[in-house]
Amino acid sequence: MELWFSENQTKDQKISVRVLEVLYSGKSNYQEIAVYKTAQYGTLLALDDIIQTNEKDEFIYHEMITHVALNTHVNPERVLVIGGGDGGAIREVLKHKSVKKATLAEIDDKVVEVSKKFLPSISCGLEDKRADIQICDGIKYIQEHRNEFDVIIVDSTDPIGPAVGLFSGQFYKMVYDALKDDGIFVAQTESPFYNVDLIKNIHRDLKELFPIVRLYLATVPTYPGGLWTFTLGSKIYDPLNVKSFEDIDTKYYSPEIHNSAFVLPPFVKNIINAR
Ligand code: SAM
Repeated sequence: MELWFSENQTKDQKISVRVLEVLYSGKSNYQEIAVYKTAQYGTLLALDDIIQTNEKDEFIYHEMITHVALNTHVNPERVLVIGGGDGGAIREVLKHKSVKKATLAEIDDKVVEVSKKFLPSISCGLEDKRADIQICDGIKYIQEHRNEFDVIIVDSTDPIGPAVGLFSGQFYKMVYDALKDDGIFVAQTESPFYNVDLIKNIHRDLKELFPIVRLYLATVPTYPGGLWTFTLGSKIYDPLNVKSFEDIDTKYYSPEIHNSAFVLPPFVKNIINAR
């Protein structure tokens, strides 16, 4: 009999993938963790039955959540990733030669452990000597750091459970304070089809702090709706005015993609421009 994994992406929509083998299934202190070998997407990680990453399309999300900000900053040396326990964002951050230390603040050690075991092509950056892995609540971590990071990336689960606080105005103020005077913040900010109010509120909250706030897009086949948003807040550098791009090995991101990702269809523009 065929085995399928289904994620309820909305109450009226599911995505289902055929499972060849259940590689891991367990419960941590924070969430249900499952790793499936799938026919379509290779090895796939799900938390509380929500797809986080998989071997086939992960490069799009991980390249886009990192390289846009890292190329916008002229000399990113200290980078913080909050969440991101699968290691994909850290792997991409460490492709930049200027980065001296990349800290991962992940709340769930089990996600890191399972990713290291079952998703080595994604988690490989976690073994790098410039990677500093902190198992802690990202909110608590950021409260304890001031004026320290060039780039802060929030690679979180959806705004439920322990990730709720990572989408609040109060948290963004702490992020602002933890960044250096020319720092850049970027977060995955969900679907422009299904999370309109969330995207609007994030944009509004960031505009109260950062002089430059930009939304950009990428297409991630396994995320709800496919089209995905990222929101960037910057103290000085404008991602629309990058003069030189580091030559790094990527499969989705390029200087052309960097610039085109900020070209928004009217329905997305309306989300962030509406009062
Ligand atoms: N790319 C993914 C997505 O958008 O679906 C996110 C991947 S990553 C696995 C998300 C991680 O955020 C999870 O491992 C989860 O444990 C972590 N996380 C959630 N809330 C957190 C918090 N408050 N502090 C640190 N990590 C958190």
